Amino acid sequence: MPDIIQLLPDHVANQIAAGEVVQRPASVVKELLENAIDAGASSIKLIIKDAGKQLVQVIDNGKGMSQTDARLSFERHATSKITKAEDLFNLNTKGFRGEALASIAAIAHVDLKTKQENQELGTLIKIEGSTLVSQENISHPIGTSVAVKNLFYNIPARRNFLKSNSVETRHIVNEFQRVALAHPNISFSFYHNENEIYNLISSNLRQRIVAVFGKKTNEKLVPINESTDVLEISGFVAKPEYAKKKRGEQFFFVNDRFIKNAYLNHAVSSAFESLLSNGYHPTYFLFLKVPTKSIDINIHPTKTEIKFDDEKTLYAILRSTIKHSLGQYNVAPILDFNR
Ligand code: ADP
Ligand code: MG
Repeated sequence: MPDIIQLLPDHVANQIAAGEVVQRPASVVKELLENAIDAGASSIKLIIKDAGKQLVQVIDNGKGMSQTDARLSFERHATSKITKAEDLFNLNTKGFRGEALASIAAIAHVDLKTKQENQELGTLIKIEGSTLVSQENISHPIGTSVAVKNLFYNIPARRNFLKSNSVETRHIVNEFQRVALAHPNISFSFYHNENEIYNLISSNLRQRIVAVFGKKTNEKLVPINESTDVLEISGFVAKPEYAKKKRGEQFFFVNDRFIKNAYLNHAVSSAFESLLSNGYHPTYFLFLKVPTKSIDINIHPTKTEIKFDDEKTLYAILRSTIKHSLGQYNVAPILDFNR
């Protein structure tokens, strides 16, 4: 019998990998925003057109890339963020897989513009479906702009799977809110078809929550603060009377990364106990800081699920901290506008 195994060409491998990272325009938004944050940007602009189906562009004032790095950034497993496997347990960046740009470029038309400090000219790179179309020098401010056009143009089946503009926009707004809440000190703006959706100035967490969810949110928030050897908790829960019928604003950030975790969510709900009527869900914005060694982020390509060494202890600390804070608030309402 003849041999039948072949190595897939890069562009095919990239397209397959892209399926894991990029489900919809919102996935592109998440990856580009995270890259901007990892680049140390203090100001980030998100522009979308047609619910991201036509355009997702992120412009940052971060550290930019050299000409060579700009090209390398589109290779698979090309990253400046880790160099060895152990680094996975000592992560201080959002990214580390070196896959996002390669995946996105495999299934879209991408224009990357970037310039570093001390460089006279920046670089413009155009890529279509993993193929480098052009690279040239341009004048550009310090920082990076990545424009992703015509997502899934070469995978009609995926393109047809996309939902209505209102659904896809909702997903993008969710991703944007998660990142904006995780980084209140960074200013963010967001435009959809040239309309301003958000314009968020650098602020503290309380101000950021209010800027994202509206003025009325301010009076709802009960501050949470606790520090133990294994866990630091900060952020806010909303007073029980503001609980909602549908699971709305529930945010966990672990080491400044938004995550989903049903078990920890249960810890919070159960801390409210009898304070909530049946079928009501608490609103919360909780930041957990844990030693980087005690979590594994690399269990899911989108990194919204992570594994904790000792979930049970975290559950107990979280539950008792929130119970305690809610108890305190019931005795004396806390109205501190400055934290
Ligand atoms: P990862 O973020 O996992 O490293 P990406 O494919 O998202 O992988 O990016 C590849 C590399 O490109 C990054 O490691 C970084 O060095 C560079 N890069 C991407 N986006 C930016 C940006 N906005 N500013 C500066 N460098 C960037
Ligand atoms: Mg990345």
